[in-house]
Amino acid sequence: MVIMADDYLKKIADFLKEYLDFYGDNLFVDTNRIKELFPEMKEPIPEITSRKHSEIKPAAPQPKTEPESPLWQFREKIKNCTNCPLGHTRTTFVFGDGNANADIIFIGEAPGFEEDRTGIPFVGRAGQLLNKLLSHIKVEREDVFIANILKCRPPNNRDPQPAEIKECIPYLDQQIEMIQPKIIVALGRVAAQNLLNNTSSLKQLRNRLWQYRGFDMIVTYHPAAILRNMGLLNTTIEDFKYIHQTYLQKLKHQT
Ligand code: URA
Repeated sequence: MVIMADDYLKKIADFLKEYLDFYGDNLFVDTNRIKELFPEMKEPIPEITSRKHSEIKPAAPQPKTEPESPLWQFREKIKNCTNCPLGHTRTTFVFGDGNANADIIFIGEAPGFEEDRTGIPFVGRAGQLLNKLLSHIKVEREDVFIANILKCRPPNNRDPQPAEIKECIPYLDQQIEMIQPKIIVALGRVAAQNLLNNTSSLKQLRNRLWQYRGFDMIVTYHPAAILRNMGLLNTTIEDFKYIHQTYLQKLKHQT
């Protein structure tokens, strides 16, 4: 197959545009995506090291939940929790953040390095990608609430353990009760499988409406999974459109 220079230039320009849209100035090279775009490339693709954690700008520098709100008071009540061993290893309790009257709650897995450092969920690279996905459906981060299955970082970002989840989910349930969202979005396998008590794959769980404690719930990929495999990006954008459409439908039925 002969590939013309113009074709290459167009492919590269499209890729860079897509990259800039989703990763901003974070240097991240998805070798799978490059192999997909340029299958004819024979040379091994050099690994490019991404920037150090400490150099990454937080996506949301300050917690946005109103300090006077009942939700914030609930945070004050539980922030010193040591119900599981993670309470002794965390730097900061990551309660969740955003609008106390949000119509949409996003639920991830557990705080990572940056979240443990700042006390704010989804501020690292996955958070920046979540912000981009939100802006794709014209939703501001300040309008939603973002939390995790766990409030404390598991050492070395290992998977949350059943005993930790069992201790922590009741806090999340209370947050959901207080916020009364129109839609809950589970980000990734850990959130989806634990909330739904269902071991199906994410592919099977996405693109349909579930119920969690009487609230509508939609499942989509975790932004970190997209960072590892850019091939999931388009499907996730479709899921975000589905979230938005479902939300608009709900608003319509309420008026
Ligand atoms: N991943 C998560 O699941 N939650 C965060 O807050 C950050 C990264």
